[in-house]
Formats: sequence, C-alpha cells, structure tokens
Amino acid sequence: MEAKKALEEIFKELHKHYNPHGWWPAETPFEVAVGAVLTQSTNWHNVEKAIRNLKKLKVLLPEGLYELQDVLLQEAIKPAGFHTRKSKAVKAVAKLFLSLNAKDELLEIRKKLLSIKGIGKETADSILLYALEKPIFVVDAYTFRFLERYGIETSKNYDKVQALFHNAFQNDVNLFREFHALIVEHSKTLCKKKPDCEHCFLKKCKRATVTGAL
Ligand code: SF4
Repeated sequence: MEAKKALEEIFKELHKHYNPHGWWPAETPFEVAVGAVLTQSTNWHNVEKAIRNLKKLKVLLPEGLYELQDVLLQEAIKPAGFHTRKSKAVKAVAKLFLSLNAKDELLEIRKKLLSIKGIGKETADSILLYALEKPIFVVDAYTFRFLERYGIETSKNYDKVQALFHNAFQNDVNLFREFHALIVEHSKTLCKKKPDCEHCFLKKCKRATVTGAL
C-alpha cells in the first residue's frame, strides 16, 4: 500500500481509538519551546518540575529568562538534567523569540533554531509546530519504530519520514499536531517496546499479520 494511503488510514484509526489531544501541556508558546528543549533525554515529570521552578521565579517569558543569571537558571532547570547545556539552549531560544516577527518564514526560523547548540531537528520542529503553529511534522523515535512495525519503510531517515507526512497532509498544522500526539500515545499504550499486538486495533499492521497476533 502506498505510504500516503497507509498514513491516512492510520490517522483515521488512531483518531477514532484515542481521544483527540490538542496536545502539549503549556500555558504559552514560549513555555512550549522551553519544554521542548528541557524534555530532551528525560521524562515529562522532570520537565514539569523545572517548569514549576521557572514559574516560581516568574521568568517563563523570553525577556525574563534571557536576563536571568546563568547560575539561577541552571539551578531551576536542574530536575530536567543536563542543566548546563540546556540552560544555554533555552537562553538562545529566548533570544530567538525576542527577535521573531510575524513575517518570519518557517524555514528561516528552523535554520536559526538548528544553529543553536543542543537543538536538533526533532526539538526545532516541535517548537515550530507546537509553539509557533507552523506546518511541519515532528518525527521522533516512536515514529520510526511504529512505522517500521506497520510496514512503512523509514531508513531511520528524519527528512524522508517527514516528507511522507508532508506529502500526505499538506500544511495541516492541526493534523500534524494531532498525528504526532497520537503516535506517541499509541507507542506508550499498545505499540510499546514489547508491542501488545494481540489487543491492537490496527488490523493492517505488517508486524501483527506476520506474527499472527491479529
Ligand atoms: S499491531 Fe502491534 S506492532 Fe502493529 S501497531 Fe499494533 S501494537 Fe504496534
């Protein structure tokens, strides 16, 4: 089955099965961006602790965070780990937010984000999609694992997989947000490290048909 059709079917099934999310628990776009950096190599629970600390300091705004002393910033985000590296990255993101204007193009902002040390494609695209509402799909390790199991070749190539989603659903910000969230949800619920194919509702998944679980 061609990838476009398969992705459309997967989205329909996931959407039917899980409640729509609206996703990314945050009060402001800047909080989303900070969370996207802090969540690298840690779980969301630790990010929440760091975010709470920043809120207590009343610096969860680009100006406030950019001007905060490094030592205070590092202490506040310590629960999320790698606090020295992440403090530099969130400060650079704060600086970028201060310089943004409405006319900035997606690719221009992406290039600036990717030039920040410690920000790769997944983090940059999370900021673009969830904080800045730009039409770009976020690919992560769950996406690779899920698609491979389903029978969609990824070559573990970020750009290739992102292009599959962009070709299938052009410029649909809400769908990109929802689809990424649904893949994460499915990967935590059924398509886990050890997949629970027996209880999975995705009848056309290649792995399940090969293993005879469906
Ligand atoms: S059938 Fe199994 S491998 Fe396929 S999506 Fe469901 S849980 Fe994952």
